[in-house]
Amino acid sequence: MESIEIKAYAKINLGLDVLSRRPDGYHNVRMIMQTIRLHDKLEIGLTKSNGIYVKTNLSYLPNDKNNLVYRAAELFFKTTEISPQVYITLQKRIPVAAGLAGGSSDAAATLTALNELFDTGLSADHLRAMGVQLGADIPFCLLQGTALSEGIGEILTPLTPAPQCHCLIVKPPASVSTRYVYENLCLDHVVHPDIDAMLSAIQCGSLSGLCSLLGNVLESVTLQKLPEIAVIKEQMLSLGAMGALMSGSGPTVFGLFSDRSAAERAYYEFKVGEFGKTTYLTQFF
Ligand code: ATP
Repeated sequence: MESIEIKAYAKINLGLDVLSRRPDGYHNVRMIMQTIRLHDKLEIGLTKSNGIYVKTNLSYLPNDKNNLVYRAAELFFKTTEISPQVYITLQKRIPVAAGLAGGSSDAAATLTALNELFDTGLSADHLRAMGVQLGADIPFCLLQGTALSEGIGEILTPLTPAPQCHCLIVKPPASVSTRYVYENLCLDHVVHPDIDAMLSAIQCGSLSGLCSLLGNVLESVTLQKLPEIAVIKEQMLSLGAMGALMSGSGPTVFGLFSDRSAAERAYYEFKVGEFGKTTYLTQFF
């Protein structure tokens, strides 16, 4: 095999709770993660010359160690002691710095693809242990589907797939750094989502139950900086979404619809609006 193509899927957080701050600066979280079909595409192949050559379709993304795919490849070659001789072509579709774990998913896809390309047979556990060294969301991006994520994101419990629905994604252009959001989170004054109740709703396959419980503890911080998030949520609900929430540290908002035509109407409504370029209609993976 000379090259391999792989899709890197985005995620949303159906529930995101932060339990405590850790001395190392990370946070203990309890999150319900869901892979969605919106994805980037990667092609990874062998080269004759030594090195890791990254190319992307976005001019503002780095091609060097600052790109997560480069770091994932570097870690893979260091771990396996294989001499690096690869190119990685990354076609981004997942909005960048959006709360959709685009970079983490690209890194996870890179580890998976290299393991296959070089036939190295690293186990899923081994890949996840490598992934968490690069980012807390990477273990989930390797697992995919619906999962409870605990610790800093490395303790994963696969769940019954969440009930299928239509997922409208809208990303406003402004961004807030994940670091800023966590640093300004005041754990004593937030409404914690009921993650246990959400686990039961998923177990029962209840979309209405799930939608009534959507909650993200980080929303309060990002909302103060970006009030348009509340406006997008309101608009999604008025267009028939059963629930709407900010994903991760934002600023992307998702709305869940059981009815396909309502979802399509809402999609077209946003598509012609100010956030049209970063509006997507997708489904759970
Ligand atoms: P998360 O939900 O895990 O917080 P995110 O969706 O908010 O992630 P990313 O799209 O992963 O954020 O990008 C965050 C930063 O990482 C960007 O500012 C970007 O410069 C850098 N980055 C490095 N590699 C990549 C990549 N492959 N794709 C996107 N961003 C990348």
